[in-house]
Amino acid sequence: MKIRGAKILVVGLARSGLAAAALLGERGAVVIACDTRPLDQLPEAAARLEQLGAPFHVQADAPFEQVDGIVLSPGVPADLPRIEAARARGVPVIGEAELAGYYLKGPIVGITGSNGKTTTTALLGHLLTRCGIPCQVGGNIGTPPAAMAGASRYGQWNVLELSSFQLETISSFRAAIGVCINVTPDHLDRHHNFENYARAKRRLFETQTPGGFAILNADDAATAAFADHTEACASWFSQLQPQPQGVWVADGAIWLRGAKLMPVGEVPLRGRHNLENVMAASLAAFLAGATLEGIAGAVRSFPGVEHRLEFVREVSGIAFYNDSKATNVDATLKAIDAFQQPIWIILGGKDKDSDYTVLREPLAKRAKAALLIGAAAGKIRGQLAGALPLIEAGTIDRAIGEAYAGARAGDVILLAPACASFDQFASYEHRGRVYKEMVRALEEKAK
Ligand code: ADP
Repeated sequence: MKIRGAKILVVGLARSGLAAAALLGERGAVVIACDTRPLDQLPEAAARLEQLGAPFHVQADAPFEQVDGIVLSPGVPADLPRIEAARARGVPVIGEAELAGYYLKGPIVGITGSNGKTTTTALLGHLLTRCGIPCQVGGNIGTPPAAMAGASRYGQWNVLELSSFQLETISSFRAAIGVCINVTPDHLDRHHNFENYARAKRRLFETQTPGGFAILNADDAATAAFADHTEACASWFSQLQPQPQGVWVADGAIWLRGAKLMPVGEVPLRGRHNLENVMAASLAAFLAGATLEGIAGAVRSFPGVEHRLEFVREVSGIAFYNDSKATNVDATLKAIDAFQQPIWIILGGKDKDSDYTVLREPLAKRAKAALLIGAAAGKIRGQLAGALPLIEAGTIDRAIGEAYAGARAGDVILLAPACASFDQFASYEHRGRVYKEMVRALEEKAK
């Protein structure tokens, strides 16, 4: 897409959209901006647009027809009727990640998947840094890619966490190393069906070229199928089968390209799913030039990421874990699998058209009760009825209270709600913080 001198509409003015607007401005585009919300509800955007001298329109009145190009924020569905209409008229439409890709210097590691992206991205940043390999980390995890372009330089890796929303519109964005951890149903409310969702993630590999590497999960059929859609060299990780050119788990250890990386018991993150993240990040770090010793040492010192199976504290022998980021059923399954002890699980929030019946069997085996909260409680109750005791708690504080009242020393109380948070909270981070605060308050009371 031509940028310099072109009139470009940025759609969606949260962090990524604003970063795109700023980058476009720097690169000589004439920027116009729009959002569904009016400007008085977007204070940060108002200030930034003023600096840029970029006019604002409420989306319904924005001149989609009279621009040379459109840049979408990842939060904006790419199939809105006005965007489809502009595209049909020949107006190029790209996403913020694609735009960033035009200007990022240095090679890109793109990390996608339904679950484990943030953990793998943070871990890879940690591994590279500890191994003395220059990198900057961003994407979904924090700084938008467009805001990383300015600080990028040749010889420095750009480690980017990329969602299906960012990937669905890429065409020339090119990852030297692409990573997909897994593809399980999520965001079906926006992608409509699993095929569309998987295809959006597949874009990361379709745009790779020979000489690149596609790090894929050999144990996950939907991810493994991406190998047939890339020019890059497929490099596998697996918990089930040796992968001589990749990384795998066998005999209680992680093996990388035929050499022992480290014993599984030395991985500080809980749960088998985290072995996937460790394998993927280790292989990416190795391909970026890190040594096995360097990688193993750095894995051992990784502190983990907040709200991902985070240990909160123990009160009267009962351990509290915060997995507020378990916003889909697969993440919740993995959280259940990570414990041997009896679990009291807090489930519910905003439903994403999910099927909770797959939780029945593991919960029947491992959980003493489920505490139901939020808007999805009724649906979850219907789908789990008879599998285990269900307690209508409504809110997180009541759920903690009820679980604590029933639990015994040695049990685990786990927030892994399998739903989005937006019915009762501003974000999953907010939900996780509230949970941790309440556990702290409970400890005070229990003293
Ligand atoms: P993402 O950025 O893809 O949402 P996170 O690292 O933030 O991934 O983890 C999201 C949720 O999924 C958390 O509940 C976490 O415990 C769980 N999780 C992490 N890695 C995996 C994995 N490889 N497979 C399944 N679930 C995972």
